[in-house]
Amino acid sequence: MTRLNDFETIRQWDNANFVHPWEGMGEIGNNRRTFTEAASGIHITTETGKRLIDGPAGMWCVQVGYGNTEIADAMAEQARDMAYFSPFSNTNSAPARLAHEVARRTPGDLNRVFFTTGGSTAVDTAVRFVQFRNNVLGKPEKKVIISRQKAYHGSTYLAASVSGKERDKGWLDQAQELAYFLPNVNSHIRPDGMSIADFLDEKIADLENAIHDIGANKVAAFIAEPLLASGGVIVPPEGYHKRCLEVCRKHDVLYISDEVVTGWGRLGHWFASEEVFDIVPDIITTAKGLTSGYVPMGACIISDALIDSISGDNSQGATFSNGFTYSGHPVSAAAALKNIEIFERDGILDHVRSVAPLFQERLDALRDHPIVSDTRGMGLVGCVECSIDGSVKNGLEQDRAIGARIDHHCQDMGLLLRPLINMCVFSPPLIISEDQINQMFDIMEKGIALAAAEIQAG
Ligand code: PMP
Repeated sequence: MTRLNDFETIRQWDNANFVHPWEGMGEIGNNRRTFTEAASGIHITTETGKRLIDGPAGMWCVQVGYGNTEIADAMAEQARDMAYFSPFSNTNSAPARLAHEVARRTPGDLNRVFFTTGGSTAVDTAVRFVQFRNNVLGKPEKKVIISRQKAYHGSTYLAASVSGKERDKGWLDQAQELAYFLPNVNSHIRPDGMSIADFLDEKIADLENAIHDIGANKVAAFIAEPLLASGGVIVPPEGYHKRCLEVCRKHDVLYISDEVVTGWGRLGHWFASEEVFDIVPDIITTAKGLTSGYVPMGACIISDALIDSISGDNSQGATFSNGFTYSGHPVSAAAALKNIEIFERDGILDHVRSVAPLFQERLDALRDHPIVSDTRGMGLVGCVECSIDGSVKNGLEQDRAIGARIDHHCQDMGLLLRPLINMCVFSPPLIISEDQINQMFDIMEKGIALAAAEIQAG
């Protein structure tokens, strides 16, 4: 274990050598990121020994909590037996068993599991497969992917190209010809006087019009997160996904459901597409909670129907030349298999369904606070949004760093959140108890009040 006074040396290496995700070039080399070196259950411990509830569960991923020795042991055992195999030439029972366990839990005929290194590579694989299939089918012009504003699908070139968060696009190139973005599906920002039903009709018309304008012969797929997670936990109006799927079916457009966040119990089910949103998509992408974040792994899960349409006599002799050295890595597969076993044995899905109502009730109650303009959530995911653009409540000043202010005060009181400009998002480990949920929201109420008082004081 690293001692406190070693951290200053390591911090120099962190600054000099470790390029972090979303690194700000203005600050590179001069950061004071907090070291977190130990964790247990729903808590992480920082370099100063402070114990915090991990509100975001890492990055929406540590489903069964930290310090799970069963997963650690399963990984160690697999590493000792067979640390690696080549998925190009051989196979191995760990990923083969996992593919079966995953397929048993997916909706419909989504039975073909392509393992990847994470969520971005799962989305990349989905887009490449859809393009590949259309090439095999002799429709090389059918390539456009329809996505949505505020969507996040990953950080590889294709996944980033179909992501719709404007502020991530400024300095990086995109495959612009590939993607088309539909307007925001957040009903909170609909025009005054418009009903949710009318807003929903408008969003469905957006999709249908886009397919019409681009030409159905050119649109390959629609990609959507069941709820837009890092875009600010945007839950579309009820019935949205079902109606989008109907539009897709009508125009021979495939539906890719990006369940990187919503899979593996986050909304109380293995996957949210069918059980929560009543759709059976053509492809599901997933990662994160598959291994509870213990080791990297993702999957692109394809329906039998799609594979059958281009296999055997229909294959044209084609090869899907896509794959990774670590596709189906046995140590990751061993972690995922143990993770699933723990989910089953400990009734994690039932637990999420039983505590989620309290979580959502406490989340809703945050709206009573003067600076809170909206709260959104589902299952064990939540977002609290404070007003910044125009809708200033009770005369409070606009403040773009309000999310960071709230997080700062909450950390002082023992809760870590994920600030996103004027929002904080959180998705705690799924093993969280009702008492711990109450503790989380008690701290959040105080943190919001302190941040508001700070702004008011100028
Ligand atoms: N899709 C969604 C919906 C995500 O939230 C993320 C990551 N937050 C990704 C894809 C990319 O996953 P990864 O970071 O594992 O590549």
